[in-house]
Amino acid sequence: MSRAFSVSAKKSLSQNFLMDEAILHAIVDQIHPQAADRLIEIGPGTGALTEHLYAHVPQLTLIELDDRLITPLRQRFPQAQLFHQDVLSFDFAQLFAANKPNGETDKRPLRIVGNLPYQISTPLLFKLLESAAPIQDLTFLLQKEVVDRLVAAPSSGEYGRLSVMIQAYFDTQKLLDIGPEAFHPAPKVDSALVRLIPRTDRPADHLYSVLIQVTQAAFNQRRKTLRNSLKVWQHLPLFSECAIDPQQRAENLSVYDYLRIAHYLVVTA
Ligand code: SAM
Repeated sequence: MSRAFSVSAKKSLSQNFLMDEAILHAIVDQIHPQAADRLIEIGPGTGALTEHLYAHVPQLTLIELDDRLITPLRQRFPQAQLFHQDVLSFDFAQLFAANKPNGETDKRPLRIVGNLPYQISTPLLFKLLESAAPIQDLTFLLQKEVVDRLVAAPSSGEYGRLSVMIQAYFDTQKLLDIGPEAFHPAPKVDSALVRLIPRTDRPADHLYSVLIQVTQAAFNQRRKTLRNSLKVWQHLPLFSECAIDPQQRAENLSVYDYLRIAHYLVVTA
């Protein structure tokens, strides 16, 4: 058992604690924490992963919602900065803007990691995508089905709105598959570790809301042709201007196709 301390797992907080030391080592190897990193762990829980991260980066930041875990986490990891907070309301930009303890400005981008509460993984990814905080990378353990969607290629069964939105902003890479037996209690689903790195050609901020609209319209009716699902823009020569065949379906378009459509709609608005 690798937990720094133990509590009974709460289903309402998606608590599935990592118990397998070999898997923990494999995850830490993938994160490759360095002393100079500005490392943040979401949902440290009973500290199984934290223990390994703390050995490299004792000044890491922890964000945990469960009241019962706060005092033990403080005692176990005294040099860490601990926020007792819902990560969905956490201000990453404010954290980034904070100075180092010695008063120096801290320009290091954030490295955010965690065995995430699966029920909030999609809203959290969108929150991070929208955040103004500079991010170096995200390494998350998620439901395998979600990871498969994050890394899916066009025209595959997993490719959907989440794939397009996330891949427009991040390069995504699946790192490890992890079975339910690595956790206690064992989740009902398989898990996978994924890395997301912000793209250097991040779309301009003003494209975001249009990209949301277009992907929603297209994938809400993914069986229909684009001519039908994107009917709301039928007064515009969208398909010819964007060089897209309107007989295709949502899943056939690449991320660049969606970005081209969003860009066209913004400039013609
Ligand atoms: N990192 C630990 C491990 O791997 O054993 C625990 C992972 S467990 C899947 C998810 C953790 O996230 C739990 O500690 C849970 O209390 C915490 N959590 C759940 N919802 C949260 C939220 N909205 N904000 C911050 N932490 C949350």
